[in-house]
Amino acid sequence: MEKTRIVLLGANGRMGQAIHRLALADAAFEIVALVTRSDPKARVVDQIACYSVKEIAAVPDFDVLIDFSLPEGFDTALQLCADRGRALVSGTTGLSEHQQAAITATAAKIPVLWASNFSLGVAVLEALVARAAAQLPGWNCDIVESHHVHKKDAPSGTALTLGKAAADAGADVHYASVRAGDIVGEHLVQFTSIGERIELVHRATHRDIFARGALHAAQWLKSRAPGQYKIADSLD
Ligand code: NAD
Repeated sequence: MEKTRIVLLGANGRMGQAIHRLALADAAFEIVALVTRSDPKARVVDQIACYSVKEIAAVPDFDVLIDFSLPEGFDTALQLCADRGRALVSGTTGLSEHQQAAITATAAKIPVLWASNFSLGVAVLEALVARAAAQLPGWNCDIVESHHVHKKDAPSGTALTLGKAAADAGADVHYASVRAGDIVGEHLVQFTSIGERIELVHRATHRDIFARGALHAAQWLKSRAPGQYKIADSLD
């Protein structure tokens, strides 16, 4: 089987480092470039060429760019993939409406899979939330998300995705965010009525679940036709 050639944007971040480590240990992947926001500390790491984001046009040919950066880095990722006609997997959260619209427009030319959460458990939680919201009209729906103190956007992208699933099924959704310690990611979706309450909770205890999901998505996406895909599409 041919290796999936990856360019990794956000390579020195928490998620980037996890993806780098897991890809090195898996013969199905070859990272051909590590891209960081500022000038790289070394030009070669683990025999992989390193670039700063301003040098990104020079990266070698690849199958999929995996982007776990910040909204400021996302546009560069989408543009490079459009220019090269290559696939994009992005987990960057906090994107603007304009950036979401750019994904839809660019997906006419290349395959794009953006997800606010690459865990399988959250994909299932989303379906459970939609079902509960549809069957419990008039109940309060509250989403409480908790993350580590370094997380910049709030509510989290995952909370917004879960909230959209509930809202599309008729719920009036309210959000609360907690930033504390080193919490990897917790999402509580609570449906409350007079005298009873349902709590649906997902707890991520290790960020490797997101990294594994992103690599799985990259391998799946590289041979897809242009289009905008969801994590659930890659699970069939
Ligand atoms: P981090 O702060 O540890 O790393 C961010 C990385 O992005 C760094 O390598 C930084 O150099 C790079 N970066 C920042 N601005 C950039 C720019 N303008 N151009 C290029 N690169 C730039 O963050 P993290 O915890 O690794 O998370 C990264 C992103 O992934 C965040 O948006 C986070 O919310 C998201 N995330 C998504 C999932 C998911 O499953 N979808 C899971 C965890 C985190």
